[in-house]
Amino acid sequence: MKYNYDIVVVGAGITGIAASIKASREGANVLLVERYNFVGGMSTAGMVSPFMKHSVGNDVLVQGIYQEIENEMRNQKGMIDNGFYANSFRSVAYKLLTNANVSLALGSEIISVNKSQKHIDSIVIISINGKQTIKAKYFIDTSGDAQLLYLGNFPYSKGDESTGFLQALTLFFRMDGINIRRATDFVKENPTDFFGWMDYNFDFTKIISVAGYFSFVKKAIKLGKLHPSVEYIFFTTLPDSGEASFNTSNILDLDASSSFNLTKAEFIGREQVNQVVNLLQSEIPGFENSYLLETAIQVGVRETRRAIGHYIITGKDIKNGQKFDDAIARACYGIDIHGQKDEQNRMEEIPEGQYYEIPMRALLVNDAKNLLVAGRCVSSTREGQSAVRIMPTCAAMGEACGALAQIATQKKIELQDVKYSDVRNTIKHNLSKQI
Ligand SMILES: Cc1cc2nc3c(=O)[nH]c(=O)nc-3n(C[C@H](O)[C@H](O)[C@H](O)COP(=O)(O)OP(=O)(O)OC[C@H]3O[C@@H](n4cnc5c(N)ncnc54)[C@H](O)[C@@H]3O)c2cc1C
Repeated sequence: MKYNYDIVVVGAGITGIAASIKASREGANVLLVERYNFVGGMSTAGMVSPFMKHSVGNDVLVQGIYQEIENEMRNQKGMIDNGFYANSFRSVAYKLLTNANVSLALGSEIISVNKSQKHIDSIVIISINGKQTIKAKYFIDTSGDAQLLYLGNFPYSKGDESTGFLQALTLFFRMDGINIRRATDFVKENPTDFFGWMDYNFDFTKIISVAGYFSFVKKAIKLGKLHPSVEYIFFTTLPDSGEASFNTSNILDLDASSSFNLTKAEFIGREQVNQVVNLLQSEIPGFENSYLLETAIQVGVRETRRAIGHYIITGKDIKNGQKFDDAIARACYGIDIHGQKDEQNRMEEIPEGQYYEIPMRALLVNDAKNLLVAGRCVSSTREGQSAVRIMPTCAAMGEACGALAQIATQKKIELQDVKYSDVRNTIKHNLSKQI
């Protein structure tokens, strides 16, 4: 391992993977630093799946590296419809990172930032062989928690602007041995016990989404058999199999940027998973022979810190389908807030046929000369973040960051002096088609 790079990317979730592949392919010398011993972030450690909507009519808004990840996973039979296996994501990411010649430091957590005024000189990481100082010309924070910004004392925001609320946490899990046809027959016979948005014309060759079982949940809570914050049971199946992935646990009132709170969340999440599995097995038709296959490695975190950049993406931008002269990504996922204790859930879909853009300025961190940010912790309000946090959009932002940092490296200029037209040229696949 070397100790001096053109670009250091911190955090190997989908955003950091896309950023480092792009920058390295375009010719930069890139190190991707990840605290876990594997890559993927929420897409693997959090077992989050499926990829959320990112097309308008026939126009697929996010292509490029994201599309390569999808294609490779489909080739491996690790992705069906828009759902995928964490294991497949990991192996595809390694292949693309290796082919792009990205240097990887796994099991390496950034613990401090050395800076002079607005310029980051180096970061310190800790790994099994102790502390190491890594220098680079440019840094990209794709840690999801804006950890590099935080350690470097750069400005950030956190939580709802008026209440301070952070979205609920969720521990994903998978079950097998489900009799899906029996389960869906029951759903069809009891539609009032499920969400109205569900598609009841079940197509068993595709992924099926089921969300509800309200009466079962209510009863179990009343009997003290289920944590009162669980609101419903939500799962997506795999085509014609007995397997499903559950986005069901609902962990409230905890801030995932506190290790004490994260520890609590881990215990509450696991308790909720066991309770939901017991409820399904003992009472719900179709689950008589089902069993718990696995739980995610960590509790899924929807939001913590957000950068404050040259532009802050707002809920209004999302709702208005805002377009920008310096657009680097397009998306069509609406405001999606998983409510906190005493807070309503909000899902505000974008009208069919519309999309919004993300400006390059949202990647440039305030008061920092050589630092970019992308993904879950991009510069945004809480509402803005709740929309742009989905995996395809994160990948598009990451790719743009990689392009921007590489151009700055090549031209030996400040990030803010990079011409938008130069960035656009290398990421047109995510922008070009006009609807
Ligand atoms: C419960 C839940 C359900 C969701 N559902 C969907 C869905 O259905 N579809 C969808 O598209 N999106 C969904 N999302 C959103 C999406 O999964 C995430 O927002 C997205 O994956 C974030 O990607 P990222 O790369 O920005 O961050 P992350 O995936 O969080 O990656 C950040 C990486 O940085 C690393 N890191 C952090 N700190 C350090 C440090 N100090 N040193 C080194 N490394 C560090 C982490 O280990 C991690 O690997 C969901 C999220 C959650 C939590």
